Amino acid sequence: MTVTADEQAAHRPAPDPVAETPCLVVDVAVAEAQYRRIAGAFPDADVHYAVKANPEPALVRRLVAAGCRFDVAGPSEIDLCLDAGADPSDLSYGNTIKKAPDIAYAYRRGVRLFAFDSWAELDKLAIHAPDASVICRVLASSRGARWPLSRKFGCAPEMAVDLLRRAARLGLDAAGIAFHVGSQQMTPARWEPSIAIAADVFARLRAEGVNLRILNAGGGFPVDYLARAAPIQDYAAAIEEALVRHFEFDQPELMIEPGRYIAAPAGVLHTEVVLISQKSYGIEPRWVYLDVGRFGGLAETEGEAIQYRLTTPHDGSGRVGPVIVAGPTCDSVDVLYERTRYDLPMDLRVGDILRIEGTGAYTATYASVGFNGFPPLRTVCVNG
Ligand SMILES: *Cc1c(COP(=O)(O)O)cnc(C)c1O
Repeated sequence: MTVTADEQAAHRPAPDPVAETPCLVVDVAVAEAQYRRIAGAFPDADVHYAVKANPEPALVRRLVAAGCRFDVAGPSEIDLCLDAGADPSDLSYGNTIKKAPDIAYAYRRGVRLFAFDSWAELDKLAIHAPDASVICRVLASSRGARWPLSRKFGCAPEMAVDLLRRAARLGLDAAGIAFHVGSQQMTPARWEPSIAIAADVFARLRAEGVNLRILNAGGGFPVDYLARAAPIQDYAAAIEEALVRHFEFDQPELMIEPGRYIAAPAGVLHTEVVLISQKSYGIEPRWVYLDVGRFGGLAETEGEAIQYRLTTPHDGSGRVGPVIVAGPTCDSVDVLYERTRYDLPMDLRVGDILRIEGTGAYTATYASVGFNGFPPLRTVCVNG
């Protein structure tokens, strides 16, 4: 009896999609669990997932089903969320830098909540999103954040007062204040000064008959990398305390926009050791070159800002020693960790698969389209 090629193929095990590295494996059940964790810590808040952290459709669908809302930055993220089943009333267009046609598109698709931080943006919103609700973003300190946001977004509080007054006069719904304390913000107390500023803006406008109601405390909630973050309850408690202190009996509707907190723990980047070498015969750290690096999705290793946990097949057995970790491209900035102390097993060999933990946020979409001939980082979703 002969066996056809088709029959042979039917008996061969399915190829393991993860076997080919580099590959980001995203467990969307973990993202849902993270959403439920932060929603539980902030029971009175509207939780908007910042889609840019990881826009995998399977992940977004899972969050829609769990009742999550979304922070989007433009038309394609709007389409992504609506296609995943989100209601347009659950979307917040949080980018303060929008093209007029993109505002019009969002409005046509039913989005009614927009962020802004300038006069020119307000004019665009008044024309292309008449009667929408608008939230003014104020500058906030990023001190204590591993991935700070600088002064690119937000305006001074006194300007926010003028902008929101003007928004109301233009027929927009002047809805509230937003801020963002920087990503991977380790300090729970960092939200308090901005909450104080927001309360002051609320009070000044209330005196003029403009009643704000929404306080958007942004994202920034940290996850465990090499350094562990405090539990999310610590951040919730600090924010709750600041709200009580500064808003007293007139509490605003709280909104938060976690990106990293929901997506990061859901991802593990599988990477192969391409080369282990030393530069001289002296005593020095080994150089470990991986098949993924700064251009393959690990952009947040710039300045060694985000320090991922690495695990190997040899963990827990034998000696370890210091290493410098680098990517595969011919660019000298493609070194991941040189100053940060990383120790890996002395048994580590070329061809071993290393796991880079906590890589579900700000990785795959940061990968270059093909620098030096290396393709963009592939993502495989599981539990979708
Ligand atoms: C990126 C972004 C977030 C998410 O920040 P994380 O630090 O990932 O939580 C939230 N809000 C806005 C407006 C953003 O641009």
